[in-house]
Formats: sequence, structure tokens, C-alpha cells
Amino acid sequence: MIDEKLEAIFDDVVRRNPAEPEFHQATREVLESLGPVVARYPEFTRHKIIQRICEPERQVIFRVPWQDDHGEVHINRGFRVEFNSVLGPYKGGLRFHPSVNLGIVKFLGFEQIFKNALTGMPIGGAKGGADFDPKGRSDDEVMRFCQSFMLELARHLGEYTDVPAGDIGVGTREIGYLFGQYKRITNRYESGVITGKGTAWGGSLVRTEATGYGVVFFTDAMLRARGLSLDGRSCLVSGAGNVAIYAIEKLHELGAKVVACSDSDGVVHDPAGIDLDLLKQVKEVERARLTVYAERRASATHLPHGDIWSIPCEVALPCATQNELSGSGAKSLIDNGCVAVAEGANMPCTANAARAFVEAGVSFGPGKAANAGGVATSALEMQQNASRDSWTFEFTESKLATIMDGIHAACLETADAFGAPGNYIVGANIAAFQRVARAMLALGLV
Ligand code: NAP
Repeated sequence: MIDEKLEAIFDDVVRRNPAEPEFHQATREVLESLGPVVARYPEFTRHKIIQRICEPERQVIFRVPWQDDHGEVHINRGFRVEFNSVLGPYKGGLRFHPSVNLGIVKFLGFEQIFKNALTGMPIGGAKGGADFDPKGRSDDEVMRFCQSFMLELARHLGEYTDVPAGDIGVGTREIGYLFGQYKRITNRYESGVITGKGTAWGGSLVRTEATGYGVVFFTDAMLRARGLSLDGRSCLVSGAGNVAIYAIEKLHELGAKVVACSDSDGVVHDPAGIDLDLLKQVKEVERARLTVYAERRASATHLPHGDIWSIPCEVALPCATQNELSGSGAKSLIDNGCVAVAEGANMPCTANAARAFVEAGVSFGPGKAANAGGVATSALEMQQNASRDSWTFEFTESKLATIMDGIHAACLETADAFGAPGNYIVGANIAAFQRVARAMLALGLV
């Protein structure tokens, strides 16, 4: 249910941003939580803080021409939505995937404002990307695309202005090509302009693992809050990319067993427990499909286009993409006795699925809280770049763990304070909104 005044604001968002369903979904999910805050603090309404938060500060769309290995010309579309810089320079990843469009970038940028606020670090919210598909492209093609993309994007970036990172389809390889081109254009070794860099050239230890590890730290905290633990629990992790792989790694370290993961062609079910070395070899080294994993592992079955959520488990971490877990998936998980779900991906659960988890008493960690470890560690990377220092793995991981515990505590305390005990959606939205809104009031009408 949404408050009447907020419903009018939401209607206006839909009217002014037509044909952007993911952006509507993300704004609605936040506005649904904010009724009690605007009732308690009328200054937010008087200063039209919510309307201002829903309008990006700047949106850039640009042509990205490039040539493939055969000399054929391709035209892609690049995006950067600089949503809110009240807490710090714009910060948020770049996504390269054929599905990328303005509405998806806006939903991700909107989520990013609140996620970044929850980390407690000095970073604003943004997101970007292109409808380019790196899959099946040679390293040279990816490099040429990244260079053309950066030729335009560079004019909008800067360590005090806008600091991108990776996301779907953008890993260390792409960050390297992007940073190299930025350095060439500006003639500056501005390490803090992009995060997710390789550790030999300004990156932070733990950044690769951070989102996946963070989501598991958050899940562990949710279970501990109920007197439970991860030890011995069977888990599902969707996806087989950066977030999924390191979520699986940390789950195994904490004694849980991951019995299935997926990519866009299907699901691998491995009741003996996912073999992480094999998964890394297939996905990180060979950049191959999960069918290859199943071919090399006797205990595994590949289910083409299978439904991962129908496999029985106690903990589920959707770590692939938006709206991958719907109401029917939630019902299967609840019926099978799942006790905790945390979003490693951004908005992987539909509104129906999220509601079903809350109503069924499943501990549900929304992405803006549960997967904030990635951007938090990006901010740690920026700190190291600024001080020309590099920290050890253990020190950086302990900072990440502390940040995730802090986010978990803030969500629980805020949910309690606003009459929704145990509801992490309400807690995350209100805690983040208050930090952003207070800063916006302080900085005036800009
Ligand atoms: P990634 O390394 O590119 O991996 C994405 C994984 O999801 C791949 O296994 C991919 O399978 C699968 N996937 C992508 N689109 C899909 C679709 N439409 N249907 C089914 N599977 C799909 O990306 P990532 O960095 O792990 O990001 C995953 C999610 O986490 C995204 O929602 C991202 O926004 C979010 N996130 C990432 C970070 C980060 O630090 N990387 C931080 C916060 C949130 P294929 O290979 O078959 O496409």
C-alpha cells in the first residue's frame, strides 16, 4: 500500500518517464515505505525532496561506433545517468548487455542512491552502460568498443565528479580498457576515477569478491538475528558471474552447501555441492557456458531453461539480474521451507515475490542493503587511491564485514523505529532516504 500523497508523486513519475517499467517498479518500492517518514517530518514534503530525488540530476545518451575484427561497423547506444550527488561524487557501475536501455539504467541509478547512502560512505548515486553484448566478442573487439565508449564518457567523469565501476558484462578486463583510454585522453593517472581496477594498477584487494561476500555477510547477520546460522544449510545461488561466484565461495567458507547456480541458458543442479574451482575455470577463465561445467562433473545435471527456485533449499540468493524471481518462484521457495532470501542482484525479486517473503516470515534482504558490499569496497578503493596506499586482504575484508553489519543493524533499528519490526525493505528504504533527504535539505535547492 502506498500513501495517498506519495501515490500522486508516483503517478507523476510514471507520466514523466513513460515506457520505463523497471524505473517505475524501483521508485514504487521505495515510495511504498516512505509514508511514515513524510508523516513524521513535514519538511521533506515542503521542500519536495521526494520529487527531487526521483528526477536525475543529469542524463547522458550517446552514440558508440566501433568496428569488429572483420572491419564491419557497429553502432551501440551508451548511457550515464547521474542521479544524485548530495553525498559525494556520482558512483555506480556500467552494464554492457543487449537489454540495456534508459529505463533500466534509471532504475539502477535510483537504487544506487539509496544503496550508497546505506554504506555510510561519501558517494552519490549513478549508473551507466550500453546495449553492447561482449559475449562471443574477441578481446580486441571489446577493447575497441570500450575505447569508443570512453571517448564520449570521459568528459563527464572525474574523481570528484563521477566514478564508474563494473556491473553485468563489465569486469576487470573492461575496466582496464576503459581506464587506459581515460588516462590517454586526459593525460592524468587519475586512479580514483574508476573502481574495480586490477590490483597491479590501483585496484583494491577484495573488490572482486566484495559484492558476493557482502551478500553472504548480510544473510549471516539476518540469520544470527533470529538465533540461526549458515552452517550446514543448503543454498541456491542464481547466476554464475562475479556476484554469484563469490557468494558461493563465502557460503562454502561458512559451512553452507550451494546445490545449484545458473546462467542465461539454464541451471546446473549439483546435489554434491558446487565445485567452485571448476566453476571459476569455466566462467572466469574459459568464459564458457554452464553446460561445460555439467559435462565435467559427474554429480551435476544441466537443466536447460530450468527453474532454479523449484530446487529445495533453506537459503536463496538471487545474483543474476532484475525480476528473475517472481511470485511463483517465491511460492516454491516458501513451500520448500526456505528461511532467508537476500538479493545479490539489483531488484531480482518482483514486488509480488518480495511481498510473499515478508508475509511468510522469510528473512528478506533487499538488494540496496544486501549487495551494498561491492560499492562500499569501491569506496574503500577510492580511499586507498587518494592516500596512495594499498591495504591487505584481511584488513579490507574486515572493513567490508563491519560495513555490512552496520547496514544490517541500521535496517533493523530503522524498521523498528517506524513500526515495521524485522522488515528489511522498510528499514533499508527509510534509513537511506533519511540520510539523503537530510543532506539535500542542508545543501539547499540545487
Ligand atoms: P556478471 O558477472 O556479468 O554475471 C551476471 C550473471 O547473471 C551471468 O551468469 C549471466 O549469465 C546471468 N544473467 C545476466 N542476465 C541474465 C538474464 N537476463 N537471465 C538470466 N541470467 C542472466 O554480472 P554481476 O556483476 O555478477 O552482476 C549480477 C547482478 O548483481 C546484477 O543485477 C548487478 O547489477 C548486481 N550487482 C553487481 C555488483 C558488482 O559488484 N558486480 C554490485 C551490486 C550489484 P550469462 O553469462 O548467460 O549472461
